[in-house]
Amino acid sequence: MKYFGAHVSASGGLENAVRNAQAIGADAFALFTKNQRQWSAPALTASQIAAFKEAMAEGGFTAAQVLPHDSYLINLGHPEQEGLQKSRDAFFEEMERCEQLGLDRLNFHPGSHLKRITALQSLDRIAESVNMALERTSTVTAVLENTAGQGSNLGYAFEQLAYIIERVEDKSRVGVCIDTCHAFAAGYDLRTREACEATFAEFDRIIGFNYLRGMHLNDAMRPLSSHIDRHTPLGGGEIGWACFEYIAGDPRFDNIPLILETPDESLWAEEVAKLKSFANK
Ligand SMILES: [Zn+2]
Ligand SMILES: [Zn+2]
Repeated sequence: MKYFGAHVSASGGLENAVRNAQAIGADAFALFTKNQRQWSAPALTASQIAAFKEAMAEGGFTAAQVLPHDSYLINLGHPEQEGLQKSRDAFFEEMERCEQLGLDRLNFHPGSHLKRITALQSLDRIAESVNMALERTSTVTAVLENTAGQGSNLGYAFEQLAYIIERVEDKSRVGVCIDTCHAFAAGYDLRTREACEATFAEFDRIIGFNYLRGMHLNDAMRPLSSHIDRHTPLGGGEIGWACFEYIAGDPRFDNIPLILETPDESLWAEEVAKLKSFANK
């Protein structure tokens, strides 16, 4: 089964995310479980949790169809102790919120070295941060997202994601989410069926499809290897429809959230419908 959806708004209550997903005909969705631009949020109340779970059940959604995204402020590879600790505390809180909501995965950007420590030192810190969060939780998987490699952001190379996974003790609760725009910006070609085959063969060899817990489906405004993270609607950028048709038709992408983070919300219903039509060919 293919679960297509989008990163929808949860404003006015987390249960609204479920309804916003249903409104565009989606079978999956992503959401922020708190304001993504703030460090902390008040703890979830029992009634907030119940309202979300009720909407999930009513909409027929399971945890495998939902990919929460953490706050943009968190940097689990932070070079300085204070920033690192703040990030680790916030990340743990977000993992805990997912558990409370009955969600089983949390998508995050690995981290940045900020040019103050080496990439390897930062990657080691990220792995340590993940280990700490997994020790304090019991059911949520930490899902590393590949990045465009803008600035000092790590996780743009499959090897870097594999390096982190290698150092995570509980391999059953670590996974990856591949963002097509980020991969393309980082130098992985996705413009043709053949290019997709080569890129995902490399992904399978270096990381492994067994770690894939979600995908972000975005077209890219900038050319291959630009290292610039700018999304466009599907088919409206440098990647083109072939990549999304390829993913929709390949069973290795079944049963995980396939999430649009494309900039024009008014196109989401259309994009989801087109992806579904590719999947049912
Ligand atoms: Zn992201
Ligand atoms: Zn993304």
